[in-house]
Amino acid sequence: MVVFVFPRLVTMLPDKDGPVAGGGQSPPGAEDPAVSLFRDYLRLRTVHPDPDYDGALRFLDRIAEELELPMKKIEVWPDRVVSIMTWEGKNPSLKSILLNSHTDVVPVFQEHWKYDAFSAFKDAEGNIYARGTQDMKCVTIQYIQAIRRLKAEGHRLMRTVHLMFVPDEEVGGHKGMETFVKHPEFQKLNIGFALDEGLANPGEAFTVFYGERNPWWITVHCPGSPGHGSRFVENTAAEKMRQVINSFLNFREKEKTRLNTSECFTLGDVTTVNMTMVKGGVAYNVIPAEMDVSFDLRIPPTVNLQEFEAQIKQWCKEAGEDITYKFAQKHMNQDVTSTEESDPWWSAFSGACKAMNMRLEKEIFPAATDSRFIRAVGIPAIGFSPMNRTPILLHDHNEYLNEQIFLKGISVYERLIPALASVPAFPDEV
Ligand SMILES: [Zn+2]
Repeated sequence: MVVFVFPRLVTMLPDKDGPVAGGGQSPPGAEDPAVSLFRDYLRLRTVHPDPDYDGALRFLDRIAEELELPMKKIEVWPDRVVSIMTWEGKNPSLKSILLNSHTDVVPVFQEHWKYDAFSAFKDAEGNIYARGTQDMKCVTIQYIQAIRRLKAEGHRLMRTVHLMFVPDEEVGGHKGMETFVKHPEFQKLNIGFALDEGLANPGEAFTVFYGERNPWWITVHCPGSPGHGSRFVENTAAEKMRQVINSFLNFREKEKTRLNTSECFTLGDVTTVNMTMVKGGVAYNVIPAEMDVSFDLRIPPTVNLQEFEAQIKQWCKEAGEDITYKFAQKHMNQDVTSTEESDPWWSAFSGACKAMNMRLEKEIFPAATDSRFIRAVGIPAIGFSPMNRTPILLHDHNEYLNEQIFLKGISVYERLIPALASVPAFPDEV
């Protein structure tokens, strides 16, 4: 068994902001090298709004060298690089397996953290605290370590496996995956099936995501008769806006009830509606000529989007004359990945999990990930982060992952990746 040491990395670590609680110190003792590598990666400040992508690329370069895998870098946008390590299969003409992860993390409110969010402090229970422990630096290192083990054991898989590392997922993926899926280099990868991020599960089961809700960001513009604040002016912007708000929030109430009264529903199965911005008015005594109200809607793939928009149009019409609306974001992709037992990819995925006695819970992802861009170009994708017995803390304060759960995830991928890469050739592949 080869023991991997990463001495050079220590010198690369950012040494910012002086001492803080924890300071990244751990009690002495032998730590699994995979855990050390994970903690090293967590210390890289790939945090918005100014992520250290160069640091991440240097880190990945070193890994590719260690794994003896070629790494391609494609600049999809100025200063936005997608990198891909490729482990060629015995039959490289077959469709490949994509192991995707994003390198960026969301900002922290350090004052709410028990430890420095970039120190990767490990407490006595083995809980590692850092931004990205769950979302999704754990998965990146788990992929890498699983491949490292498989290679060290002398395996050679049938299908090619690509490890892809993308920037900017946390800011919508426009300068990352959304652009890259249209790039000729993406086509060349010839991907048949993709794994991407999921969410932790507080119970014994593991959650897998086979689809996502579509985010719609809408602003409703309500024009009205202006006038003096001392009078009863007819047809005001505020009266119209009230109706609009009522329609949206009544619908919100219905969806909330639907979620709370059905045992088998999760957030991914209903439409969430939230009123997020209001704009209008110039003075206390002036009735304004216009008011705007904005909503964040997340719509499950089971909803007919044309009918849903017709409903919005109707709400606006009922609220008064000349009301218009505009979308800041309107995703229309309703592709879901098959989870039928007859589907060879799903059967390989779920079969490997079953063999490890893992119970899977299938869900629609409540928010948006890069998987939506992968599915939109016709590639089946499963969102999966192997973390059970773990509270969902992505984007939250004190995000952490226990080292044992992290290490178990490596073994999970060690079985999953060969299972997927052994899916027999499809009729159109030979
Ligand atoms: Zn993520």
